[in-house]
Amino acid sequence: MNKYTPIIGLETHVELKTNSKMFCGCEAKYFGKEPNTITCPVCLGLPGALPVPNKTAIDWCIKISLSLNCKINLFSKFDRKNYFYPDLSKGYQISQYDLPFGQNGSITLSNGKIIRIRRVHMEEDTGKLIHEGESSLIDFNRSGVPLVEIVTEPDFHNATDVKEYLQKLRQIVRYLEVADADMEKGDMRLEPNISLSSKQQAISNKLPDYKVEIKNINSFKFVEKAVNYEIKRQTEILDKKETPAQETRGWDEAKQKTFSQRSKEDAMDYRYFPEPDIPPIIYTEKDIEKLKIAIPELPDQKLKRFEKIFGLPRYDAEILTRDRKMANYFEETVRVGKNEIKPKQIANEIINKKIDIKKILPIALVKQILNAKQTIQIDQKELDKIIIETLNENKKAVDEYKSGKENVLMFLLGQAMKKIGKKVNINIVKEAIIKNIK
Ligand SMILES: [Zn+2]
Repeated sequence: MNKYTPIIGLETHVELKTNSKMFCGCEAKYFGKEPNTITCPVCLGLPGALPVPNKTAIDWCIKISLSLNCKINLFSKFDRKNYFYPDLSKGYQISQYDLPFGQNGSITLSNGKIIRIRRVHMEEDTGKLIHEGESSLIDFNRSGVPLVEIVTEPDFHNATDVKEYLQKLRQIVRYLEVADADMEKGDMRLEPNISLSSKQQAISNKLPDYKVEIKNINSFKFVEKAVNYEIKRQTEILDKKETPAQETRGWDEAKQKTFSQRSKEDAMDYRYFPEPDIPPIIYTEKDIEKLKIAIPELPDQKLKRFEKIFGLPRYDAEILTRDRKMANYFEETVRVGKNEIKPKQIANEIINKKIDIKKILPIALVKQILNAKQTIQIDQKELDKIIIETLNENKKAVDEYKSGKENVLMFLLGQAMKKIGKKVNINIVKEAIIKNIK
């Protein structure tokens, strides 16, 4: 047993896939676009430009909050988070401080652990710094893209749970169709904070007096590695009776370690204050009810329903509900084949044969399964009888085969298939021929 308990919290940023940006009419899909081609005075932060909130983005942020079991603040507002960084043209970011759209939610992991969600808030993305040799370039295409931040309480104690939480979160936003959450494109960025609590602290429910944040990780695998690395690093420091520095670190995948980026001394004071250019955002219970109704069946409910209604084992249900399109495909195939095929057989076919749901229609899959079933059903005795008949009628070919002309087998196979007259598994027939020639 380790003498320390890891205390881990997570901040996750998810970019929404709205058509336009958060506070202006610029296109939000910036990936692969020529730098600085989708900007305007608002997202460039020019003086006098007025931000107008994107209603769809706020609706989506609330949908995410509802899906994470959050309470919704009907009276909410935007705030200015002031800090200086080159990728932030205004010198502040429009975010939310004390009245985020969602608060006090949760996600339940498969092991039953409940991860509390502190807040879900809406903000704007910053520009992107591109470092080229000695110089740094800025691309403002990303500036102002709607960004939702989801913050958990420090409820994780290991990297495995962190990873599962992230997978669940990504699955939910994808089910909602509000974000692609494509890690490689930076649509989802992860920031775990880690500290270790001693036994005494754990008993008295006190949090450690330091915290290490790891910034901007864009892969679940890297998060897992970074968390495990930090646990090890901090253990070694604590073992020396020292306290790890309160700081921000980054993950270096090449070196497989975290590295110091910013220490507590340069910790920022964001001097939040209400955004004067945007009036408070007010929703009614009725508005929220409408958004709630529009939320599709979420992964956890779907998984349980697949187990119950279709009698699927957890493993199958889990794979089939991982992606909403796949789940719909499975259900449609069950519907098409309902008189002839059991759901479990359809699940087997999709999972074992790694069916490409974009290429095979549900009706074609049903046919494929039924055809395969026929081949299994052919009686071995009946097959042997037909093969012996075929061999007796083609003695010359049999002799040729025996003398080493192996391609004659294809001719015999053709003759036997003609006699069988049904679509059967060719390999079984082939084996029967070889067996009966000997
Ligand atoms: Zn703009």
